[in-house]
Amino acid sequence: MKRKKGKVIAALTAVLATLIFIATVATVFNNIKNNLSSEVVRSLESEADQNILLMSREIEDKFVMLNSFAQELSSSGNEEEVIEVTDKMTSFKAVYGFKRMGYVRADKSAYTTEGYEQQFPLRVFVDKGLEGKSYITAPEKEDLIDIEDAEIVMSVPVYDRQNNVKGVVFAEYGYLTFRDVVFSDAAHGGGLSYIVDVDGGIVTSYGSAVDSEYASIFSYTDSSDKSGEVLRQKVISDMSAGKEASGIGPNSENKYFFYCYKPMEIQSADVRWYLFSVAPEEALTRRMKPIMEYIQYLIVIIAALFIAANLIYIYFNLRRRRELYRLAYIDPVTGGDNFSGFKQRAERLNDKSGFIAAVDLSEFKLINSVCGVKKGDEVLCEVWRLIKQSCREDEIFARVTADRFIVFWMGRNKEEAARCAEKLAEQIEAASERLGVPRLFPVIGIYAADKLVNIDECYGDALSAASLIKGRRDRNYAFYDELDHDAAAENRKLEESFDKALKEKRFEVWYQPKVSARGGQTVGAEALVRWRGENGELISPARFIPLFEKNGNIIRLDEYVFREVCRQQKEWEQRGIKRVPVSVNISRFSLYYSNVADKYKNIIHEFGVEPQYIEIEITESAMIENTEITQLITQFTDAGFKLLLDDFGSGYSSLSTLNQMHFETIKLDKSLVDFIGSDSGEKLLELIIGFAHSIGMKITAEGVENESQLEFLKGLDCDDIQGYYFSKPLVCEAFEEWLKRGK
Ligand code: C2E
Ligand code: MG
Ligand code: MG
Repeated sequence: MKRKKGKVIAALTAVLATLIFIATVATVFNNIKNNLSSEVVRSLESEADQNILLMSREIEDKFVMLNSFAQELSSSGNEEEVIEVTDKMTSFKAVYGFKRMGYVRADKSAYTTEGYEQQFPLRVFVDKGLEGKSYITAPEKEDLIDIEDAEIVMSVPVYDRQNNVKGVVFAEYGYLTFRDVVFSDAAHGGGLSYIVDVDGGIVTSYGSAVDSEYASIFSYTDSSDKSGEVLRQKVISDMSAGKEASGIGPNSENKYFFYCYKPMEIQSADVRWYLFSVAPEEALTRRMKPIMEYIQYLIVIIAALFIAANLIYIYFNLRRRRELYRLAYIDPVTGGDNFSGFKQRAERLNDKSGFIAAVDLSEFKLINSVCGVKKGDEVLCEVWRLIKQSCREDEIFARVTADRFIVFWMGRNKEEAARCAEKLAEQIEAASERLGVPRLFPVIGIYAADKLVNIDECYGDALSAASLIKGRRDRNYAFYDELDHDAAAENRKLEESFDKALKEKRFEVWYQPKVSARGGQTVGAEALVRWRGENGELISPARFIPLFEKNGNIIRLDEYVFREVCRQQKEWEQRGIKRVPVSVNISRFSLYYSNVADKYKNIIHEFGVEPQYIEIEITESAMIENTEITQLITQFTDAGFKLLLDDFGSGYSSLSTLNQMHFETIKLDKSLVDFIGSDSGEKLLELIIGFAHSIGMKITAEGVENESQLEFLKGLDCDDIQGYYFSKPLVCEAFEEWLKRGK
């Protein structure tokens, strides 16, 4: 579900990113287009300015020439001179490319380069000339139908000596020749240019020959093209008002064009013309092309980068996911599933029945501490391999923690499960030799699961089954149904009533005296907890301590006993009762918690008890399990506590490690004291006591029950004795009596 949601979000993000990318490209493209459009318009404007300058200069030059010609005529009057002038005109015509030149007198008789004309037709340029004005004509609109015949005429007045107009000199340009002359230098980038009069009549044009289609640029109409019509009206009104403008206009083919019109003053002639320039859409697209190509490359590069970034992201994401998966579901030691991985796989088998087995190695910690962690890991890998071997392809298994494994033997009957367990146990035991480690003792608890639903519960039940055979060397597997369910229920009851019992002070502290072996006086005591049940009966610590060690309540109980002893010591001090150091047992589980030494140090300060009156007993097994024990010992000793190594000899004692631990006293376990009477046992005791003394440690013997044991220990110079021989653990008041008696 979460994954699907993630995919949807990723897809939406990709779509959104693409849309943003497209929108950005479109915006950039639009901006570029707008900028380029303005640039096209600007270039139209500057081209128009240049054209106007060039054209007007060209036309003005012609007028200068015509005027000088008229000047010559004004001083002359006779016919000979006129003929001479006609010759001149003929050569002028050739030089300047005129079609015809002529001199029209006021009486309409005319000398032209084509001969004498009696009655020269009255045309505007003649009229204007006779009015004393220079003039230049636009071609007649109807002439433009055949532009070969169309013409443009320039005329200037000729004055007599009294400064009266006596005639008109004119020069006729073939329309096309005029166009070449005026536009010859005005290169124009692919558009159209017109010189028009204010009525829109085309004087001449440059570019494609649209002038044959329209006699006037105002004649363009297209009823379907409203914006075209608007623009046309604007041009008409602007031109009649002498305004100039430029911009972008639409045309009928749903394309657009650029336009610019500016008035073009011809100083020498009485005309108002406009230069009207148009550039087609291509003028823009031509400019856009290289930019578009550039943008295309850019898009390809950006898209490639985008895809590459995505691929890199996906790659790292997958790697991270795999890493997270590995951390969440893979056991780093064996490389197989961990407990979570097992549960995940079990989800798919939840309707399957079979047997859940909890596989454990007793005393595995010893392998770690004796052979090293590396060897320990090797052992775990081998056990994992053997478990795998015991399974079919479809069966699942995992390492839960430390040396604990879980297996699901699916769809098998009880006999098959028993066979699997037996074979697995045999193979694990056999592996010890191969691996070169102390003998491995597998402990396998098996629970029959109808359905694989609550793994924690199933595993818990399998563990309970395993607890049946823990410590037993004759059996290495047990089924849950062998469990004494009454005892289990009783245990649960005890566990559940812990809080209440603690609150109601049902835990009593009893004191067992320690007596000097040499002098017989009391040198201390050990605080031992008892639970006073609801009916007043006493429950032994051997019964409830293992339970509390399992559920963690031991930490609270240890602290409670410790506080009780502190409180009692303070009370004895206040009552003036002779005090002796009292040792308190701290479970190995309490030692796992950080700042444990500080915690106890603070408690004695709280009660105002000197540390020499409180000693701490740590069991031998704690030393094997807790790798930071040396540090812990230092912390306790620094806090002023004396440390006693409890139950020495009950498990895997190592004399060599004693050397590195700064225990004040070693407490010999009762099982060692019980050896007294056997030769080898006595030798062992002699050795231990001798060694402990040689490194400055004291010895307290526990469980001394008879005189012969006492005498033997005295003989070995054992320091203190704790045992039934002198006293059983005493209820507080009884111990007080004991102290008062000053034994
Ligand atoms: P331990 O610390 O080794 O205590 C000595 C045990 O040996 C006591 O058993 C004591 O009654 C018994 N004992 C002493 N002398 C003799 C003897 O001559 N003969 C025989 N047969 N037994 C003798 P207890 O009181 O039943 O305690 C059992 C264990 O429970 C203790 O062994 C200790 O490990 C644990 N324990 C007791 N109180 C506490 C406590 O407050 N906290 C923790 N963490 N453990 C405690
Ligand atoms: Mg003890
Ligand atoms: Mg002990």
